[in-house]
This record gives sequence, C-alpha cells and structure tokens, in this order.
Amino acid sequence: MKRRSKPTSFFHRICASLFVLVLTLSIALLFDNCSNRAEGGHASDEVPQAKAGLQEEGHGPITLVLHGGAGTIKKENMSPELEEDYKQEMKKALIAGYTVLEEGGSSVKAVTTTLQLLEASPLFNAGIGAVFTNEGENELDASIMDGATGLAGAVAGVTTVKSPILAAEAVMQHSPHVMMVGKGAEVFAKEQGLEMVDKGYFHTERRFQQLQKIKKAEEEGQKMGYLDRHHPNRKFGTVGAVALDKNGNIAAGTSTGGMTNKKFGRVGDSPIIGAGTYADNMTCGVSATGHGEYFIRSVVAYDIAATMSYKSMSLEDAAHEVIMKKLVEKQGTGGIIALDRKGNIAMPFNTSGMYRGYIQEKDLPKVFIYKE
Ligand code: ASP
Repeated sequence: MKRRSKPTSFFHRICASLFVLVLTLSIALLFDNCSNRAEGGHASDEVPQAKAGLQEEGHGPITLVLHGGAGTIKKENMSPELEEDYKQEMKKALIAGYTVLEEGGSSVKAVTTTLQLLEASPLFNAGIGAVFTNEGENELDASIMDGATGLAGAVAGVTTVKSPILAAEAVMQHSPHVMMVGKGAEVFAKEQGLEMVDKGYFHTERRFQQLQKIKKAEEEGQKMGYLDRHHPNRKFGTVGAVALDKNGNIAAGTSTGGMTNKKFGRVGDSPIIGAGTYADNMTCGVSATGHGEYFIRSVVAYDIAATMSYKSMSLEDAAHEVIMKKLVEKQGTGGIIALDRKGNIAMPFNTSGMYRGYIQEKDLPKVFIYKE
C-alpha cells in the first residue's frame, strides 16, 4: 500500500521557517559576542584574549619595565647621592634593554641585557650585590619566561655563576628542563660557556655587615628571621624586568640573592615560574619582589595573568587586586612590575617604596623610588 505523506500545512511551514531564523540569529549573536571578547571588547581594551594574530596586529609600542626591589624605602633614610645612584643605575639598564628592542632584538634578549647590568651593580640584591645566607655564603636564584613560546628557565642556589639570569636563559634555551639547582646548575652553566667566578666575587662588605648585624641581634635574643627589622632601609632588593618587543612578544625575568640570613638552602619566589616570574603573550609578563614565601603561596605572578584572563580584567586592575588586596590580606609584603601586549604597565607595591622604572620612548627612561 502506498503511504501518503501528511500534507504540511502553511502554518507548520511558517513555524519551521521562524524556528530556523531564530536559531541562525542566536548563533550569529553568540559568535559576535565571542569575537568581541577576543578583541578585549568586554571589560577592558587592554586584555588580549586570543594569541592568534598577535604578531600581525594589535600590540603596543616596544616597552621595557624594571624593578630593583621593594621594601621599607623612605626618603628620610636616603641620601640624595645614593638616591641619584639608584636612579642612574636603573636608567642605564632601561636604556640598554630598550636599545636591544629598538634594534629589533627579542624581549628575551632585552630582559637578559637589562638584568645583567643590574646584576653587575652592587646596589641591588642580585649578582654582585647579593645578600648573605646564615652561613655567610651568597646563593643566587633567577628565572626567565618567554611569553611567545611559554618556555621558561630557572636556576636556584648557585654560587659561582657570574650572571644567574644568563644561566636561567640557558636552561630555557638549551635544555629540556625548567629548573636546575646548586651544583648541577653550575655544571650546566659551565658547559654552556657562561662566565664562572670564585665565590668571593659576590662578597661585598655592605651586605656582609647586614648579615653580621642580624646575627648579633639574634644572639642577643631578638627574633630576627630573614631581615633586619631595625634597619631603617629594610628592603628586598631583587631585580626584575619585563619587555615587549616589536613582534608583540612579552618576556619576563627576575634575579636575586634571596633574603639575608636565609638558612637550609631556602629558595624564594624569584626562580619559581608562576610565583616570582611569569609571561604569556595572551595576558602579561610579571616580575615580583618581596617576601618570597608569601609570593609562592599566593602564586602571585600567575594569579595576575589568570585574573586578567578569567575575569577579563585590565592589567592594572588585576595587578591591583592581587598585590594591594589579596596579598595584603595575607600580610605579604612586596610589589611587582608587569606589562601587557598593548604596552600597558602596572607597578603596584604594598611597601613604602620600590625601585622601579620604564621606558617607552628613546632616551626617556622614567624611574621612581617612593610612592609618587
Ligand atoms: N623575593 C625575593 C625572595 O624572597 C626577595 C626579594 O624580592 O628581594 O627571595
């Protein structure tokens, strides 16, 4: 028997057409919304949501930002000469890193160039200015991350590598690993042809006296821990840099001697990717300075990038939320410098000062020390 198909009524056909129309419109709206967010059209124009196309368009001017440590840095405890010395060292490092970017160099190269100069200055707690451990040694930590590739490298507890940031870079570029510590890191650095020095290279009298002062106070029964709480210029002093190159790639790096009087092979946040250093082209690059244990527990650097991504927040808002709210609630002291792919900069700190600066125009480095 031949089956007769049911005749479709005019009304049914209209309903079906309307349904298809509504469905198409909804899908179109959904796509529109998604692409708006990808272009940062939600809460902020600064927040990149998609990596695709980054290199081709939409990134800001070449930019470099650095820090030379946060802490109890007050004008009344600083001589004008010393203040000028800090500013000059920061400007020199900014100009050197910016020159790399200007000549078309990568953000990774700009970061290592900047940090190498700061490591070579006895003013900062990194490289030659590194603080002393309880045993009277200098154990240095550093890390670097490339926001374009997501690769990272770090060294911790090294005592004979002249430039720990170069060792961290070598780990990133020339090994399948992310982090190397102590002796092994030193063997690797030597194999890579990096400059090695005697332990004595890192011995500066100023830092040695800081350790003696803390130890004496401890002997007298004061609970000093890592820091000289009675020292008027108590500060952390780590160095860090974040750069945005002409291809829109971000890199971040941090180098430190850690904290005075540290014991038992203590390692802080500086060489920990996600805590003291983080970079991702899609969000931002971050370098931290402060009381490392708090920065590790709060995964500070990554938290800023994640806050931007998950909450569609601007760099400034995300950095403020993490440093000035979340970290403060946990009584963690310190600050960060950060940069997004548009060249937006954030430099929040919850201490009285932070050596910091940035450069976005040739020969015009801007440096700051106190709360401005
Ligand atoms: N964050 C470093 C550490 O805890 C110290 C510093 O920033 O100066 O090792």
